[in-house]
Amino acid sequence: MLALGGFDPEPAPPKAAEEAAFEAARTRMVRDQIAARGVREDRVLAAMAQVPRHEFVPASKRAQAYEDGPLPIGHGQTISQPYIVAFMTAALDPKPTDRVLEIGTGSGYQAAVLSRLVAEVYSIEIVGPLARRAEADLQRLGFRNVKVRLGDGTLGWPGAAPFDAVIVTCAPERIPRALVEQLKVGGRMIVPVGPAEGVQELYLLRRHPEGMETQAVLPVRFVPMVTP
Ligand code: SAH
Repeated sequence: MLALGGFDPEPAPPKAAEEAAFEAARTRMVRDQIAARGVREDRVLAAMAQVPRHEFVPASKRAQAYEDGPLPIGHGQTISQPYIVAFMTAALDPKPTDRVLEIGTGSGYQAAVLSRLVAEVYSIEIVGPLARRAEADLQRLGFRNVKVRLGDGTLGWPGAAPFDAVIVTCAPERIPRALVEQLKVGGRMIVPVGPAEGVQELYLLRRHPEGMETQAVLPVRFVPMVTP
């Protein structure tokens, strides 16, 4: 068809239209799933509104990327529900100068969200293909202040310790001692604790000079932390 006067806008190329739709879905996700449930920290909401969750889920799941739940990412693992990612991130009280340790890289999404809020993220994943894919995705998307390591997270990352904050996104039955030891005085840890089957509780720990303060903050369901 002939466009008269040259005023017809060009149709958006499919890629840009798709990105715009994802961005709109992300804005709704932040408002309806996260802010509505009480996460108020502006920096956390902004990071959740920025990071493209659809880039961290399998291609077949992209259309569901902004729905209110976890999604499978292969190898029996899942990317957590957006609200849980936001809740745990806010609970850590992330500061721009912080160095943060994550156990359970999975898709890399939680690490990406944190990377917008802190100086450096160190993330450990025990499943090789997941570690490699997350690392590649984080690089491709420009999240350059995240380091991914393949290994057993129960040992922490001694070479980079101590950390201002530790986030554990798989559930141990008991909190590994190394993770507590690698937390700075004044540091925060958020960790789901409990049996693989059954009720787990999300704990917020804070290291004081005289010891650990522990607070149960939310019942949750995470995949178990495995030990080799
Ligand atoms: N934070 C992830 C979700 C993690 S799912 C995201 O944003 O997508 C939990 C992950 O913990 C899984 O990928 C699982 O392989 C990993 N995991 C389980 N036990 C572990 C261990 N001992 N050390 C490191 N990672 C572990």
